[in-house]
Amino acid sequence: MITKFIKRILRRDPMVKHTHASNTGAPKRIPKKSHRIDPHLLSKNAVKVTHTLQQAGYEAFIVGGAVRDLALGISPKDFDVATNATPDQVQRLFRKARLIGRRFQIVHVTFFGKGHPEIIEVSTFRALLDNAGDHVAESGRILRDNVWGSQGEDAARRDFTINAMYYDPSSETVLDYHGGMADMQKKTLRMIGDPAKRYREDPVRMLRAVRFAAKTGFELDSATRAPIAKLGKLLNDVPSARLFDEILKLLMSGYSWRAIQGLKEAGLHHGLLPLLDHILDDGEDSKGANDFVKLALANTDERIQSGKSVSAGFLFATLLWPDLLKNWKANSSKGMANIPALHDAMDDTIATQSSGMTIQRRFESDMREIWSMQPRFERRVGRYPFRLIESPRFRAGYDFMLLRCATGELNPAIGQWWTDFIAADPAGQEELMASAKNESGNTASPAKRRRRRKPKSAIPPEGAAS
Ligand code: ATP
Ligand code: MG
Repeated sequence: MITKFIKRILRRDPMVKHTHASNTGAPKRIPKKSHRIDPHLLSKNAVKVTHTLQQAGYEAFIVGGAVRDLALGISPKDFDVATNATPDQVQRLFRKARLIGRRFQIVHVTFFGKGHPEIIEVSTFRALLDNAGDHVAESGRILRDNVWGSQGEDAARRDFTINAMYYDPSSETVLDYHGGMADMQKKTLRMIGDPAKRYREDPVRMLRAVRFAAKTGFELDSATRAPIAKLGKLLNDVPSARLFDEILKLLMSGYSWRAIQGLKEAGLHHGLLPLLDHILDDGEDSKGANDFVKLALANTDERIQSGKSVSAGFLFATLLWPDLLKNWKANSSKGMANIPALHDAMDDTIATQSSGMTIQRRFESDMREIWSMQPRFERRVGRYPFRLIESPRFRAGYDFMLLRCATGELNPAIGQWWTDFIAADPAGQEELMASAKNESGNTASPAKRRRRRKPKSAIPPEGAAS
């Protein structure tokens, strides 16, 4: 009895400060028979976190994208929990809990089991902020919002109605403040509140709109779509690192091709990746580049949908390849030797990209390695193939080379040769080397000599990029 009383008292202090306590309204309570969330899709650890918090007298729910995915019948890739306990209070309840203090202060609770450790992200209900004070930049962009609030306020500051539902695993009830469940049924993506104002607060929400539309197959509600045409330019003010994170999520969503088409339709692609500026135009001269990127993205989507990993370096290497080919070709036609022409082109491509959105250094070095390996696939004599196969990033370079073969940029026989070479025993490898030598009669670039009428492949192909 007394402990219950103490808990109730303690429960009062997390609600540090309410700015708009009254403007949020009561949620719709959706029982199990209506939402049909399958409890088997829940993460046991997420349930453990909500239970522990509830046992300690706090409110706790699974929230955000996980509830959206559960309601769609898909298994969420990660679980977020929202609570009225403050980060400090959360931290005290779990052994492996770490306070993460970036723009939002949250707690990462880590569970070690079979396979990868699972991190459950726990955040405290946040308050809505008005446009006064030092939290908001002149453009309307929110700079800082570590002010705790009620669950209703927390719901109102989320982005889309389908991302603002709270699921309590104990009662199997969904609390829905903004008609998210009805929008799910209508297959509509709707921004909470005034969309223009919400985009001004955080322009990244425009990219999120495109990403979720691609992922769910939902339509953007017309009021949610309308302001994007005018406000898209606000993305220029977003720090490059955040933009990069969001583009990476978009490309890794499993629906990257659809998402990129969505960016184009929304007019958001300019300045994000230079290649998007020209390859998404349907002109004839961008066809080669378009085919290559389309194939690379289809390949990425397939891998992600079947649960395989994708390397971001590889992905950006493919997206920038058409641009690189164009620069490489320009250098070659100025009389530069093939390899220096390639390296110079790599610098140019990366510099142009950085003027829009900087790619993280660790990915940049992967890209450079994959690219600089490409001419080496054409040297199939002496020690060259053995040295190439031993390079640490060989597999990525090889996969990349196969994509080039698949679009006809590189002679597919070269791709097949390497596939055979990897699988062969030492005797088989010697035979393959001999066949490559006979085929070409030269050591530098067999493919180039073999196809006399239309030289290809050792230098960038004609018309691959506009
Ligand atoms: P994903 O499947 O990509 O993880 P998600 O909806 O879970 O999708 P997160 O970035 O993990 O996306 O964010 C979790 C939740 O936090 C969202 O569902 C949304 O409610 C809220 N949220 C995230 N980013 C924003 C934002 N920029 N503005 C408003 N709310 C946001
Ligand atoms: Mg998430």
